[in-house]
Amino acid sequence: MRIFSGAGVSPGRITGVVRRMPRPVREPAPGERRAVSVSAGQAAADLRAASHSVQTELQSRAEQATGDAKAILAATAMMAADPMLMRSALDLIDGGSSAEGALWDAAASVAGMLRGLGGHMAERAADVLDIRARIIAILRGVPAPGVPSSATPYILVAEDLAPADAATLDPAMVLALVTSGGGPASHTAILARALGLPAVVAAAGADELTDGVEICVDGVTGTVVVDPDNAARAGLQVSPRATTTVGGQTTTAAAAGFDGDGRLADGYVLPLLANVGSARDAATAAAAGAQGIGLLRTELYFLDHTSEPSIQQQRKAYRAVLDAFPGKKVVLRTLDAGADKPLPFLAIANAAAEPNPALGIRGYRTERVRPGVLERQLEAIASAAAGAEAEVWVMAPMISTAEEAGKFAGRCAAAGLKTCGVMVEVPSAALTAEPILSRVDFVSIGTNDLTQYVMAADRQLGALAALNSPWQPAVLQLISHTVAGAAAEGGHKPVGVCGEAAADPALAVVLAGLGVSTLSMTPRSLAGVGAVLGSVSLELAQELAGVALDSSSATGARARVRARLPMLERLGL
Ligand code: PEP
Ligand code: MG
Repeated sequence: MRIFSGAGVSPGRITGVVRRMPRPVREPAPGERRAVSVSAGQAAADLRAASHSVQTELQSRAEQATGDAKAILAATAMMAADPMLMRSALDLIDGGSSAEGALWDAAASVAGMLRGLGGHMAERAADVLDIRARIIAILRGVPAPGVPSSATPYILVAEDLAPADAATLDPAMVLALVTSGGGPASHTAILARALGLPAVVAAAGADELTDGVEICVDGVTGTVVVDPDNAARAGLQVSPRATTTVGGQTTTAAAAGFDGDGRLADGYVLPLLANVGSARDAATAAAAGAQGIGLLRTELYFLDHTSEPSIQQQRKAYRAVLDAFPGKKVVLRTLDAGADKPLPFLAIANAAAEPNPALGIRGYRTERVRPGVLERQLEAIASAAAGAEAEVWVMAPMISTAEEAGKFAGRCAAAGLKTCGVMVEVPSAALTAEPILSRVDFVSIGTNDLTQYVMAADRQLGALAALNSPWQPAVLQLISHTVAGAAAEGGHKPVGVCGEAAADPALAVVLAGLGVSTLSMTPRSLAGVGAVLGSVSLELAQELAGVALDSSSATGARARVRARLPMLERLGL
């Protein structure tokens, strides 16, 4: 038995068997030639056999799948034998290329051609590149890329997950996540919480885990036990949620539910909203009692789009979310592409020349290099809003100055959108909240990025997980400064929080005490946050906000606040 630990970022304890996420397939050397010992006939036969095996595998997965997944897998299977792709690869082999090099180049030109056709055809370009990677993996004898497929549930172990991979996780098959990279605010952590999967990130020992090994994962303490003995299994019982016993009855915060009425014990109103990335998430959020949507990450819709979605496609996607919340507030965030969430159609031409992508052209800044995309997105949002019953709010990510906020407000007004705000994710925005709020209707604090920028600690980097805590007094001071900026500006404009900080029930109390007006979180956290907020008065929340602000460290702030909130222990949070 061996034990290692990382940062527990999504609660739950579970035992299961490891499946590793394969590394992405490497590009062959440009113009790679066939070895002299390999004839063109042999290379062609190898390529045909590999493509046949990919096709058979995807077909059999399609037969077992249902709904959208079935259709997608069946269409991708056909792509593996696409005559045009094969013909051009075989021609390149005849011209002296290796099988891998030929397929790489042939797929690149087919994908380029599909992109050029635009619309639905352009969407197929990503499938061609996926097929290419799968066939090359077979030619090299390495595991297929992407989230492993398995007939039995497993614990997914990876260096980190790309947002597009994370989006394909099947929560019925993946029991838990363990990564060596990633921080508490990484997209892997956010996704794990949204799916309710126990997760440990920044776990250095994860790189040594191999397929088939049994591990116990504790998403609260961040502990991973390899080859557990019976005692360890008993300590980490197989249970997807933290449970606790109150008055002889075993309960979970989630089981207790959220009644759709965020308020403190003394009746002080603090609406609890949801963070979502799709219409399906929105339905989950509505069912979980969310009082609205505080953050729709529109970029998550389009991660696999190789070309800009049409206004009609966007309208349909946004409208489906609006329709889940009639009469309620829905905050749509314009595309937050770049850095850890690259969108192929918003790729920066000289991305390689961006040595620090998190400090580069991302979020609202992409407007500088891809003018028009924002304008069309706002048009699509306005068109989705027309006739919808939801109250539509729009905000921009990565705003650094009051001038940018003013420009964004102008664009919203031009598109006919009435309620326009910006995210406070960059320290400069927190420090200039007052002039920013004189130009927009609201702000929403993104503590994930605000923490990474004020602490100068990459949110994706496991090694810096301790620095990357929203409990850091510097982060809390910036939040306090933002609220003060709103008060100075008149005090009537909302200051929400939609970063992961809002999903931490103890930190939610501090945020309430600091004076924020709404909290937005993954739907699964609503119940726990709602219950803990309901156990404190505004006076106590303000006192605890002072305690946290005066602490000299993140761990100290957290410990001192938690010690004053007995409801946390009662709910196993
Ligand atoms: C944030 O930065 O806190 C935020 C909500 O945005 P994202 O996590 O999507 O970057
Ligand atoms: Mg952000």
